[in-house]
Amino acid sequence: MIELRQLTKRYGDTLAVDELSFRVEPGHVTGFLGPNGAGKSTSMRLVLGLDAPTSGQALVNGGRYADLRRPLHEVGALLDAGAVHPGRSAYNHLMCLALSNDIGARRVAQVLELVGLSGVARKKAGGFSLGMKQRLGIAAALLGDPGVLMFDEPVNGLDPDGVRWIRGLMRGLAEEGRTVLLSSHLMSEMALTADRIVIVGRGRLVADATVAELTAGY
Ligand code: ADP
Ligand code: ADP
Repeated sequence: MIELRQLTKRYGDTLAVDELSFRVEPGHVTGFLGPNGAGKSTSMRLVLGLDAPTSGQALVNGGRYADLRRPLHEVGALLDAGAVHPGRSAYNHLMCLALSNDIGARRVAQVLELVGLSGVARKKAGGFSLGMKQRLGIAAALLGDPGVLMFDEPVNGLDPDGVRWIRGLMRGLAEEGRTVLLSSHLMSEMALTADRIVIVGRGRLVADATVAELTAGY
């Protein structure tokens, strides 16, 4: 489970995240919806301890990221699919992560299979399309078999088959009882994938409701 408690992040004059509070429960896909610049990525970075909040808290399974004993096994994330080492193969990219986290080569092969990249595992990630990079980022997020997963705009750059695949993957992860937070700026995508949607604008909570509640009357 993920919990934000009055989470606030200021960058100079910009209030990127403004007293944001919500919980992401296991067993569901929770959509994180808002226009570009709304504060979604910043919130996820704060959950992962990649940045420190100005005030408030971001918790994973009740603790701060820094306090997790086996972080990769507790929370997996796809943040910026473009940010892979271009000269490294998909296999080596995952192996580097795996080795520093006591994860074996068998699991690397398993996640490559799961995301459909087994056939290009030895090819350099620099030559991958954005869709393939998204798949590689998802493989990295799944590596430690974590119960909590966050995906920042995973659908960007994917073709319709890829979009359907992501949708099925997210649903499957939730059905396995995992906590899934999925960010997007597309309401249409959210309505098809998420059970519940947290809407943010300018760093603030706009709505936190089930898809049924949000679409009632339409
Ligand atoms: P989203 O993911 O919803 O598109 P972001 O979290 O990326 O939104 O950005 C929220 C706001 O914070 C934006 O105004 C953005 O320009 C600003 N911002 C994000 N990261 C930084 C940073 N490292 N330094 C300065 N401003 C930032
Ligand atoms: P399944 O039984 O779902 O076909 P496996 O038996 O291959 O999957 O699972 C091997 C490992 O991978 C297990 O630890 C399982 O929890 C994990 N796993 C299965 N499905 C997923 C998934 N979609 N994402 C992440 N890990 C998974």
